[in-house]
Amino acid sequence: MDKEQQKVLREHGYVFTEAPNLRRETRATFYRIDNGVISECPDLPADPLSLQRYLNKGFKLNKVDLLQPQPFTHPQDGFVCETCGKVLSTRLALSGHSRTHQK
Ligand SMILES: [Zn+2]
Repeated sequence: MDKEQQKVLREHGYVFTEAPNLRRETRATFYRIDNGVISECPDLPADPLSLQRYLNKGFKLNKVDLLQPQPFTHPQDGFVCETCGKVLSTRLALSGHSRTHQK
């Protein structure tokens, strides 16, 4: 990007900051979760390509991201039996199913 283009973008409100050391490779600490244990992987390359590659592999840049509850993967909302884990499609079905455990 040349100075003229930067000037135009600045006029539209974009802000440019000079990286203090452009030649230095960007590196970052990634986190991944393995059997419920968070492992820290410091000093990994974090240029846009590497970053994308690590994120695709399930690495995160933030420990907090790993602690977020996993999204509910069942395709439709269901009611889960607390006794055996079976998923019923309606509350009525669940209450009927629950009765089978009360013998
Ligand atoms: Zn059950």
